Amino acid sequence: MDYYGKRMSKLIEQLSALPGIGSKSAQRLAFHIIHMPKERVVQLTDAITDARENVRYCRECCTLTDQEVCPICSNPARDKRTIMVVETTRDLAAYEKTGKYEGVYHVLHGAISPMLGVGPGDIRLKELIKRLEGDVSEVIIATNSSLEGETTAMYISKLIKPTGIKVTRIASGVPVGGDLEYIDEVTLLRALEGRVEL
Ligand code: ZN
Repeated sequence: MDYYGKRMSKLIEQLSALPGIGSKSAQRLAFHIIHMPKERVVQLTDAITDARENVRYCRECCTLTDQEVCPICSNPARDKRTIMVVETTRDLAAYEKTGKYEGVYHVLHGAISPMLGVGPGDIRLKELIKRLEGDVSEVIIATNSSLEGETTAMYISKLIKPTGIKVTRIASGVPVGGDLEYIDEVTLLRALEGRVEL
């Protein structure tokens, strides 16, 4: 039975296709949206369209940005010789919030997972290796401490070792299986300061 009519059902269907939105949440959101003032709905849809059209990967670090080179990479005060490798832009944001890291980043957009069929070619690893041809003194691997994160860390360290560039891994203190974005700043800083050479 189509209780809500075609248009409402279509909206609910679109919303429930988003990650983490079940059919109940989708219905709640859909009712919220149709009760919103029209101009607010336009602002929302414009923001979605604009972000989708203009957000891209930074040419240097592959983070999401609306410029060719992101604000971090184009900041002359950042130490370009230190690269912190993270899985997602959200992890980058978590470290940026500490305000204490002065190097730059490399965002992989995922982690190697043989179980899920995600190989080295499916994440932004080639781009990292290319960057190492420049003047780099240290690569800090800050992937999550999940199985995938550890697998990725091992893989990257093996790739970099022969180049003679120092490779470090953020210390424990980040709980096993913990996503970086949910960890408080003090713990993140402690993990960074206590990093060990691989
Ligand atoms: Zn960048």
